[in-house]
Amino acid sequence: MDAVVRVRVRVRGTVQGVGYRPFVWSLAHRLGVAGHVGNDADGVFIEAESGEGVIRAFLDALEREAPPLAAVEEVEHHRISPVGEGQFAIVASPTTAADRVTPVSPDVALCEACRRELRDPSDRRYRYPFINCTDCGPRFTITRALPYDRPRTTMAVFTMCALCQAEYDDPSQRRFHAQANACPDCGPHVEWRPVGDAASRVREDAITAARACLAADGIVAVKGIGGFHLACRATSAAAIATLRARKHREEKPFAVMAPDLETVRRFAIVGDEDARLLQGRERPIVILARSAVPTLDLPAGLGPGHHTLGVMLPYSPLHELLLAGEVLVMTSGNLSDEPIARTNDEAIERLSPLVDGFLLHDREIHVATDDSVIRHVDGRELPIRRSRGYAPYPVRLPYEVASVLAVGGELKATGCLTRDHYAFLSQHIGDVGNHETLAALQHACAHLEHLFEVSPRRVACDLHPGYASTQWAITHAAARGLPLTRVQHHHAHLVALAAEHGWREPLLAFVFDGTGLGTDQTIWGGEVLLGDASGFERLGHLAPTPLPGGDAAIRRPSRMALAQLRAAGVPWSDGLPPVADWPEASRAVLARQLERKLHCAATTSMGRFLDAAASIVGLRQRVSYEGQAAIELEALATTVPSHGAPYAFTLREQGGSLVFDGGPVLAAAARDVLAGGPAAAIARRVHDAVREMIVAVADALRDRAPGMRIGLTGGVFQNVLLTREVVARLRHAGFTPMTHHLVPPNDGGLALGQALVAAHVERHG
Ligand code: ZN
Ligand code: ZN
Ligand code: FE
Repeated sequence: MDAVVRVRVRVRGTVQGVGYRPFVWSLAHRLGVAGHVGNDADGVFIEAESGEGVIRAFLDALEREAPPLAAVEEVEHHRISPVGEGQFAIVASPTTAADRVTPVSPDVALCEACRRELRDPSDRRYRYPFINCTDCGPRFTITRALPYDRPRTTMAVFTMCALCQAEYDDPSQRRFHAQANACPDCGPHVEWRPVGDAASRVREDAITAARACLAADGIVAVKGIGGFHLACRATSAAAIATLRARKHREEKPFAVMAPDLETVRRFAIVGDEDARLLQGRERPIVILARSAVPTLDLPAGLGPGHHTLGVMLPYSPLHELLLAGEVLVMTSGNLSDEPIARTNDEAIERLSPLVDGFLLHDREIHVATDDSVIRHVDGRELPIRRSRGYAPYPVRLPYEVASVLAVGGELKATGCLTRDHYAFLSQHIGDVGNHETLAALQHACAHLEHLFEVSPRRVACDLHPGYASTQWAITHAAARGLPLTRVQHHHAHLVALAAEHGWREPLLAFVFDGTGLGTDQTIWGGEVLLGDASGFERLGHLAPTPLPGGDAAIRRPSRMALAQLRAAGVPWSDGLPPVADWPEASRAVLARQLERKLHCAATTSMGRFLDAAASIVGLRQRVSYEGQAAIELEALATTVPSHGAPYAFTLREQGGSLVFDGGPVLAAAARDVLAGGPAAAIARRVHDAVREMIVAVADALRDRAPGMRIGLTGGVFQNVLLTREVVARLRHAGFTPMTHHLVPPNDGGLALGQALVAAHVERHG
């Protein structure tokens, strides 16, 4: 027989609140191992005693057989003296604060076992909207502090009944130490509160009343996991029009929630990867192409000008009950630039003018967290918005870093805190241009600091003095006596990309986006940078063009188009859509403005270049949300295959930089528009031109690309058509392209890069 050995084991990663201790307990019983297991602030600790061979099998299974929600990063063990124990037990968490903490799990969609119980009339949780277990349910959104234990969550106010407590205490049960465990007798409940005089209703009646309101084309505010949604029937053009009018959201697409995959297939094209994403435990909104032959017709008003649709499946039991086979619009419960509503009072105060009733509940949401949004490229995730289901899962860094706080940019803001090998990114906050959203960003950063016990030694922000986040960072750093690091926008994008890939060498990256302040005080956005956390070199850029009227040019692509056509020496002839968009008198004013360079900042923005292209093909002269023109240009280009020679950028060397001039591309597009060419084919050729330019520039800089890596980052690379084709062409040319899979290429990923630049300054000066 084997000699008896005892080992002390440490398991790190996301191993709390995911059923890991019960798993260890069952494993120990199965193999005949004595000892104990427990949670502490550093993860899971185990002592195990048995024969040598058994212990080896036990250690091996700790990682290999871990429960589905666990993300084991490290199993560390060493031998200690056997004590002759005969039992295996789960022991209590020590309450002492440790200096290291373990990531709390993100929120998890309803699991299959719970879904079956929800639908089983003989189950005591039949149709109970808060059913959950150790494999599913809210986590991050209900957690006030770590370690993750019921008293530190918003479930603390509900005392478990005898039956629930017995499940909670029994290691053989699926709900053993399920911190959010609840049932109709002891847990939270829903309430229907109509706007107006009608009486409120509770429990099953509340859901019935909400469904009746939806059936009559009403708008309902639904409290979910991370905040409120505004819901209406997705099959009703009238309900959608009402929602648009009340929410003051004219064109931005609405996401829908469909009851199951089969229903999604009736109106959208669902590939294998889409199906996996839709059904995954994160349950993000997945951007899908609309079906050409739908058997369930959803109104075009869901997303005017879009060939895609954001779709998600139900992730809370309440959604399951509410949908009951219908497809619903489920859009964030906010007024256009405000944060998502979190508390019942907040929702009633702010959303009453928008809705006909509220489906509320009394489980408090501690952290407001919007739905995440994902596209995919060649079977890999491309995050557009990283929030519920992902936050606060950290990005594991390739090296240890100093603790810093980064506050992000202006649009799609997120905050980031670093510690040891981790970067904790906040949930998506939104555009911090107004007071409420900025307050939400401040709150999110403070919560991360508290939750993960980070004491930042430095603060990081953008170079742009006009960003609300920059202004906050300046005062916040001063108030705490911390040094501040201002990070150039595109440098931050580059570093974020390298970080998520664990790339430690300098990276040559194409950083293409809408706007970011350059080190020369002009507006950048079509940049080729070589750099790492310690700094960067600008090796190339789009030829600068005037940006007449600054932000006005962003809202009105035709203004950008006229400026760029003029810069390219293309006459403003009447047949061109941007010309037609301007009355002759104002056109003359614009011409004078361009001539005298009045209020004309120079920009190298690729986003603005694509806006100009969208205007020239006649697609869009005004936008009502950021990136709209470029998104619609992609949609249009996607409808046709590549054909003919692409338009071509000209490349030139200028002051040690490689400059790519888009003037000839726009001139060629204008010529084809005037010749009556189809808009889709022209849009396609613009895409092809950008693709070929990237490959040509990469090739010209081949000797400067460490490891033959080429990074693709910035909001322009949310464009799937462009990203997919550039990746393929770069591979073909012998490069290894690097794109985003963990954090968004847009400004939602900016804080990660800022943090690493500041952490580098903190450590190395
Ligand atoms: Zn479950
Ligand atoms: Zn109960
Ligand atoms: Fe950006």
